[in-house]
Amino acid sequence: VSGVALAKPLVVGCDTNFMPFEFKKDGKYVGFDIDLWDAIAKDLGLEYTLQPMDFNGLIPALQTGNVDVAIAGMTVKSKREEVVDFAYPYYDAGLTLMVRADETRISGVEDLKDKVVATKLGTTSVDFLKKYPTKEVKLFPNIDAAYMELGTGGADAVIFDSPAILYYIRTRETATVKTVGPLYQGQSYGFAFPQGSPLREKVSISLLKLMESGAYNQIYKKWFGTEP
Ligand code: GLN
Repeated sequence: VSGVALAKPLVVGCDTNFMPFEFKKDGKYVGFDIDLWDAIAKDLGLEYTLQPMDFNGLIPALQTGNVDVAIAGMTVKSKREEVVDFAYPYYDAGLTLMVRADETRISGVEDLKDKVVATKLGTTSVDFLKKYPTKEVKLFPNIDAAYMELGTGGADAVIFDSPAILYYIRTRETATVKTVGPLYQGQSYGFAFPQGSPLREKVSISLLKLMESGAYNQIYKKWFGTEP
C-alpha cells in the first residue's frame, strides 16, 4: 500500500485547537493527531500540508474537496458518516463534566437543570446536552473560551471530550477546576475523508500496522503519559 503517487501535496485539515490532539506551540502545530498522521504519511510516502481551521468548518471542507482528510479528534457518528468516510477509529474517548473546584451543587448531568453549561460549537457535546435539561447552553468555536466562561462565573459547568478536559486539568498550575460524574457517551475518533476517497482504506491499513508494531503506543505515551 505504499507509494500513493500524487501530483501535489495532500491538504490535511485539522482543528485550530483541540489539546492534546492538535494545538499551536512555539508557532508550530503539535499533538497526538499530528504525530499519528505524520507516521501514517511517512508509511504511505505522502507529502502534505496542514490546514488548521475551526472544527465546525472541517466537514464542509471535506464535502467541497477543499481538504483531502480531516484529523481533528473527530467522533465517528451516523450524521457525519452520512456525508464523509471515516478510516478505522484510532482513539476511544467520552465526555466529561468539569466544574469549578469549589462547586458543591453539581455532581452529574442530572444537576444541570438550573445551570449554565458551556461547550464547543458543532461537537458531540452539543448533541449530548440536548438530552438533558439545562438553564442555558453557551457555545463557543474554541473550547478555551468555554473554560474561561467557567472561570469567570459566566457558566457553571463545561462538558467536553474527556481527553481534552483531563489534559487541561493536568497542565494547570493550580487546581481551579475538577471533573464530576462518570465518563459520558463512549465514542471513537476517526480520520475523515471525502466520500469515496481512495485514501481512506490505505490510511486504515497503515494505522492498523502502526497499532500492531507498537509505534502507535509510543505516540500515545508521548501525549497521554501512559500506554493505551
Ligand atoms: N470529538 C468531538 C467531536 O467530534 C470534538 C472534536 C473537536 O473539538 N476537535 O465532536
